[in-house]
Amino acid sequence: MDKKTYLDYNATAPTRPEVVRAVCEGLQAPHNASSVHSFGREGRKMVERAREQVAALIGTPANQVIFNSGATEGNNTVLHHFKDERILVSAIEHPSVLKALENIETIPVHKNGTLDLDALETALKEKPTALVSLMLVNNETGVIQPVAEAGALAHKYGSLFHCDAVQAAGRIPINMAILGIDFLTLSAHKIGGPQGVGALALGICGITPTLLHGGGQEKQARAGTENVAGITGFGLAAELAKNELSSYTAKYSALQSPLENALCKINNLKIHGQNTSRIANTTLLSLPGASSETLLIALDLEGIAVSNGSACSSGRVQPSHVLKAMGASDEETTSAIRISTGWNTTQNDIDRFIKVWQNITDRLKASPRRRGSNA
Ligand code: PMP
Repeated sequence: MDKKTYLDYNATAPTRPEVVRAVCEGLQAPHNASSVHSFGREGRKMVERAREQVAALIGTPANQVIFNSGATEGNNTVLHHFKDERILVSAIEHPSVLKALENIETIPVHKNGTLDLDALETALKEKPTALVSLMLVNNETGVIQPVAEAGALAHKYGSLFHCDAVQAAGRIPINMAILGIDFLTLSAHKIGGPQGVGALALGICGITPTLLHGGGQEKQARAGTENVAGITGFGLAAELAKNELSSYTAKYSALQSPLENALCKINNLKIHGQNTSRIANTTLLSLPGASSETLLIALDLEGIAVSNGSACSSGRVQPSHVLKAMGASDEETTSAIRISTGWNTTQNDIDRFIKVWQNITDRLKASPRRRGSNA
């Protein structure tokens, strides 16, 4: 196979070449950012520069940004801080929120994939709540959540507000103060940075949730020797993403709209969250009668990488909890495919996907066990 087409940016984006170079350079010297000698001081400078770059992407002062190993850690750090209190989260959060604790209560979403704000208010009225958590953009559907409204409701009822902004960063403008976010989590590898690096940003509430204790790194907020090279790469990826933010929607809509139009012409399929405010890089579709697994494998054999929704660690295809929460039928849930684009996606990739999709779905239609259904 001569050509591979990567359309799974929401799982992880290819690392940008500039970032690869910066990370490699960062690895050239022993940069323990806590050391007082010149190597350590150089490492400290690299970390602080990256802090400015990441802070700029989310409109917050640099001293409010704590580096960590990624959004799974960030989400767990925030939720564990409130482990003995009431926590409300949307039913479509990432597993790193939904599974962080056992006693979390979930708030439903509408059929279009947005949080049911009335249900949130009803729950908040019921009894005191310490924390509300709502993602800014859903990783499976790309649907943009009413974060400002949910944050305002949380504060109205005396709760703090956490936002997982992993899939929004670099795609839509983020300003923590304007959105009323007390805790925000980010991950470098979704924006072309390295894996295993992320950040927790703090709003004005004055609370610093801390999960890892030990050395006093990150002003006592996150123990462990800083991943200087990774943090440097994260900073650069954040700066590159910020520079491209103003043209993001136009650029990716120009790929998304023709893609969705073409796919709807080929098959009678459903695009989830289609008429809702949605990020321009994500298309989650269901082809009733087909199986996600069959489609994924057939596409993979053609060198095209997409996802069934959310990537899971075991590599097994599991029905999406997000689609279930949106009231999708079993048939829709088991036939879902997510296409997500990013910095290195070209029109050729989209054209190739459409062509291969047409061939695969024609073949499935023609086969006696129609569409490889396992539903
Ligand atoms: N939240 C969301 C919305 C995500 O998409 C992901 C990654 N799939 C995470 C959290 C976890 O991020 P990380 O890989 O940095 O742990």
